[in-house]
Amino acid sequence: SPSGDQNGKRVLLAKPRGYCAGVDRAVITVEKALEMYGPPVYVRKEIVHNRHVVDTLRERGVIFVDETTEVPEGALVVFSAHGVSPAVHEEAEKRNLRTIDATCPLVTKVHKEVNRFARDDYDIMLIGHHGHEEVEGTSGEAPEHVQLVDTPEDVAQVQVRDPSKVVWLSQTTLSVDETMQRVDQLRERFPEIADPPSDDICYATSNRQVAVKAMAAECDLVLVVGSRNSSNSQRLVEVALQAGASDAHLIDYASEVDPTWLDGVETVGVTSGASVPDVLVMELLDYLAGRGWEDVQEVTTANEKISFALPRELRTGREDKR
Ligand code: SF4
Repeated sequence: SPSGDQNGKRVLLAKPRGYCAGVDRAVITVEKALEMYGPPVYVRKEIVHNRHVVDTLRERGVIFVDETTEVPEGALVVFSAHGVSPAVHEEAEKRNLRTIDATCPLVTKVHKEVNRFARDDYDIMLIGHHGHEEVEGTSGEAPEHVQLVDTPEDVAQVQVRDPSKVVWLSQTTLSVDETMQRVDQLRERFPEIADPPSDDICYATSNRQVAVKAMAAECDLVLVVGSRNSSNSQRLVEVALQAGASDAHLIDYASEVDPTWLDGVETVGVTSGASVPDVLVMELLDYLAGRGWEDVQEVTTANEKISFALPRELRTGREDKR
């Protein structure tokens, strides 16, 4: 190996990995809300899909709820990065809740696309995963116009009113390759289907997939740090395997590594989902170093510079009284 390591053990560390601009903003939003208003701060759903982040915020006085009906009248609630439907905003207003919306601007962009195509009376094929919070929020913008397309079976089942007025949109955290397969299948049924005005799969999702792809074929094992319910993290495991990694696993913490995974392994690839703080990756690198994987080489496929302004409710110091 380049470092002269006798045993050939090395780590390839993907870059970019970990926190995206939307997650960073959502976590800071909750931290600021805690500072400005004190606990308890209610958050509807997990602010981002990461166990460590959620547990840490809970210890600091955040109460996570599934629905706004669980928030006491008049209390402060933050909406998560994945976005909410207009019905959730209405419910919050009815209950006189003070709200701060931490929806990622790139999710809001897709909500606006849904509204625009619904206004023009299109049938909207929303490619995404059944039951994921983001697609629930996005389709809630125009439920009568949106049909969710997850599997090839869904492609076969959707019905449209006018095949010349169909558009596809997508969840932001899908596999780029799999989404294009789904689009091809939709196009076979509806040759005139329109493409989104711009990419719905966000820069962070696609950059992390490109990075893991670049190193996967060299890896005997890829470890993706991320939570089970994190869509983009799960996709990194799938993309790593498709791109030639011999084995790949999703773990929340270094302590979840099963030592048998490392049997006979020389090159370990490491990356992390968009909701994962880098401290968790550093803990994994420490764990690997302790077992002889001290040679760490970063594989860089992009440098991300994007960041988002905080929600306006925090910039003005006044939460939204909708
Ligand atoms: Fe926004 Fe993409 Fe991050 Fe989701 S993964 S919060 S859409 S930047």
